[in-house]
Amino acid sequence: MLEEKLKHKMHRPTYLNTLILSFSLIISSGLHHLSFAGSKELKKEALTVIQKKRQLLIEISNSIWEFAEIALLEHKSAELLADTLEKEGFRVKRGVAGLPTAFVASFGLGKPIIGILAEYDALPGLSQENLPYKKALIEGEAGHGCGHNLFAGGSLGAALAVKEVMEKNKLEGTIRLYGCPAEEDVGGKLYMARDGLFDDLDVCLAWHPDYRTKVDVKGSQAIDDMEIEFFGKTSHAAFDPWKGTSALDAVEMTVFGINLLREHVKPSVRMHYVITQGGKVPNIVPEHAELWLWIRDSNRQGVKVVVEKIENIVKGAAIATGTTSKINYKGSYHEMLVNFTGSTAMQKNLEMIGPIEYSEEEIAYAKKIQQETGTEEKGMVCEVKELEKPAKDPEGGSTDVAEVSWIAPTLHVSTTCAPFEIPWHSWAVVAASKHSIGHKGMLLAAKIMAATTIDFILDESLLTEMKKEFKEKLKGYRYKSGIPPGQKPPLRVKKIR
Ligand SMILES: [Zn+2]
Repeated sequence: MLEEKLKHKMHRPTYLNTLILSFSLIISSGLHHLSFAGSKELKKEALTVIQKKRQLLIEISNSIWEFAEIALLEHKSAELLADTLEKEGFRVKRGVAGLPTAFVASFGLGKPIIGILAEYDALPGLSQENLPYKKALIEGEAGHGCGHNLFAGGSLGAALAVKEVMEKNKLEGTIRLYGCPAEEDVGGKLYMARDGLFDDLDVCLAWHPDYRTKVDVKGSQAIDDMEIEFFGKTSHAAFDPWKGTSALDAVEMTVFGINLLREHVKPSVRMHYVITQGGKVPNIVPEHAELWLWIRDSNRQGVKVVVEKIENIVKGAAIATGTTSKINYKGSYHEMLVNFTGSTAMQKNLEMIGPIEYSEEEIAYAKKIQQETGTEEKGMVCEVKELEKPAKDPEGGSTDVAEVSWIAPTLHVSTTCAPFEIPWHSWAVVAASKHSIGHKGMLLAAKIMAATTIDFILDESLLTEMKKEFKEKLKGYRYKSGIPPGQKPPLRVKKIR
């Protein structure tokens, strides 16, 4: 009973509790295994575990780099991660939210419940050898151009380290690693969020490889992802073109409309598209054409305003060309809800652990990549700066991590895993992601997340304060998924080359 009480006290390290605990320990020499190690000590333990498991984490991230599996096809990557977690004592639930390559791995019991996100999908067409110049490993195949193999390894490292510290010090709480597939397409977290997998979290932590190191407080954009189809009638394009109605004409009119609209949207809006279907041959009037379009802005309301205008453009194009139209809403992401209280705690850990040091060979490798991509040869940049100020508009880009940020306070850190300012989603990132420059960033991320998780396990007042900010920012909003209930994730995706 006393032991139970002490355990309970352990994550309330107020002065009073610490005093009671110290007193109890003095009078009870048999309870030495419960000695309150203090957050500094526990963090040190966690960092030692990451250092000890360094080779395992590198091997796993390298294997995922080699698998290079694109969205929803990450079978080997998910299995490797889930198997490793199971071997390390986590309870693993596979195939969650109707996604065969998603999983949730848990360790421990009770509150707080702390989530760590992992991603592992590659990008189509970016196959690249582990070399500082462009050379495909297998022409046309996928590659880790966003460094998600490192993302997986770093998050795994944090979860394993926290688990060991919890076990050794008998700390209460639950650590949960979320295996999140298909970030680059579809958005696995959309389905996981819709199905309530994050609902009981007290806090969630994530990271991403970058060419800078910083706790991210600038947020990300909201986005709507849609496919616009037009259906016309075929005819011979020279013999009887007047009998046909061209779906391609309707796509072209829509594109023209979107490009005129650019003058009348806010500067924060981003609109980009590809024409995925434009007909088969020039001598057949195309009966089917398709446009794949993404609309982004700083928040969901901004996206909604633009999407309504696009819907009118589509209607107009269909009327003008005598075709019919269909819009397939593939999904939408929220903008990131930034939490400064939690981010400040993360920042302190980043400052404590400090920047990465690089060898001359590593800097030379980075500079070669920069030279090959026409980027200024600044090598690796891993300065630890002050936490940034809140931004009115986020930087361009969206992530399904933002979905989680409306369900539980979500913190995000970026660490330097690639040469400064190289083009992202390119061969150059693949070339950095199986190299020691990438591995070092991955281990730094694991350490920052593990240390921050320990803060939340030990300091209940920090959790309370962070939740207060979260609640205030929600302004009564209850998370609503961008995909309808019951809609199943698309289980096969086209291999885009
Ligand atoms: Zn990414």
